[in-house]
Amino acid sequence: MAKVLILGAGYGGMAAAVKMQKARIPFTIINKHSYHYFTTLLHEPAGGRNDFDPYYVEISEVLNSPEATIVKDTIKSLNPSEKKVIGEGGEYSYDYLIFALGNAPEFFGIPGLAEHSLLLRSLETAKEVRSHIDEMFALYAADKDPARLRIVVGGAGLTGVELCGELSEYLPHLAHKYKIPEDKIELINLEAAPTILPMLDERLRETALDVLTRKGVQVRTNEKIVRVGENEVELATGEKIEANTIIWTGGVRANPLLAEAGFDCDPRGRAKVNEFLQSVNYEDIFVIGDSACFIGEDGRPLPPTAQLAGQMGEHVVENLKALMNGQPMKKFSFNYMGTLASIGSEVSVGNVKGFKTKGVTATVLKEASKAKWLMTLGGLSLVARKNKQFTRSH
Ligand SMILES: Cc1cc2nc3c(=O)[nH]c(=O)nc-3n(C[C@H](O)[C@H](O)[C@H](O)COP(=O)(O)OP(=O)(O)OC[C@H]3O[C@@H](n4cnc5c(N)ncnc54)[C@H](O)[C@@H]3O)c2cc1C
Repeated sequence: MAKVLILGAGYGGMAAAVKMQKARIPFTIINKHSYHYFTTLLHEPAGGRNDFDPYYVEISEVLNSPEATIVKDTIKSLNPSEKKVIGEGGEYSYDYLIFALGNAPEFFGIPGLAEHSLLLRSLETAKEVRSHIDEMFALYAADKDPARLRIVVGGAGLTGVELCGELSEYLPHLAHKYKIPEDKIELINLEAAPTILPMLDERLRETALDVLTRKGVQVRTNEKIVRVGENEVELATGEKIEANTIIWTGGVRANPLLAEAGFDCDPRGRAKVNEFLQSVNYEDIFVIGDSACFIGEDGRPLPPTAQLAGQMGEHVVENLKALMNGQPMKKFSFNYMGTLASIGSEVSVGNVKGFKTKGVTATVLKEASKAKWLMTLGGLSLVARKNKQFTRSH
């Protein structure tokens, strides 16, 4: 039997692994943590909605069949000509490789941004965001420095907007806890582009902006960050904002291992793949999710999303089965289901299958999308075990 190696247990890697398990094809999955975290929901625990437990699951709870071998390791490099990958803990050979190691932050060369900002991209970084903000509020209670209560979120795409929505509900609780007047808090969302949430149409963007503003978020578009220092953000206008919490959500690029190994990549570092999701350089390597540059119907690379990663993960297994059975592979085509952005626990905006939706209806649909992924991974029992995702505890 061919040796199949999956790198990464995010949305793409887990979708592929679950399908491999169902098809009873042996495989090995390597991930830097023993757990899979729900990246698309990380703004919720980071922004204080709940504790962290509902937002991750041990990989071994999901991939529990004899066909699955789970290895906890961090991959350091790829050696495609020898069909090997090199991790901190050892070398791994393969006949077929599924590369699903996600993305890396894009800092656009802005001086100081990488050094002085927090990120929201993993369970660990989500915990850092939450504990840092808590700590700043505690310190304010002692020294009354206004910068402690000023939070700057760079980027008003899905991640930045959803995080601001959560924080707008959580910060008043913290203020109450530390006996701080709420009007001392400043939550600022900076965006270099003229609009927030560029993937949504204008009417929905206006609704989102209106909700954020009513929740007390200062949304400032056309504001380019040009430098970040310790506790300070400088804008292109020359304005300097003193803030003890700076969170960068403004961009991602592909995992750098692909470019480092000499794969043909686009300017964002994503490996170019053909219509079957094989790397254009190596037909035994499939690249999926945020690391893949797949050209969509409009001639442009499809934007990186969890739904794309999941669909690619499932498709790749179909093509692997075809290859193993000497049958022709199928072309990948993306079935865009829509985008939903939550703005706090009660309001969402977005489009689903071409229909615009907002308010409580959109929130119900967003909650349904959580259940769908849990069902894919572990059926109803996982939905039941992670049901705290559907409530608010703080
Ligand atoms: C706050 C937030 C909200 C989002 N909301 C949405 C949304 O509503 N809808 C949507 O479609 N998308 C959303 N996204 C984007 C979505 O999360 C990503 O597009 C998706 O996670 C990409 O899946 P992936 O499988 O390519 O990578 P990932 O899910 O990032 O998985 C990569 C995996 O590889 C592991 N890994 C990385 N490097 C190594 C290494 N060197 N060695 C071993 N393991 C490694 C990581 O730990 C991770 O488990 C959101 C993202 C964020 C941050």
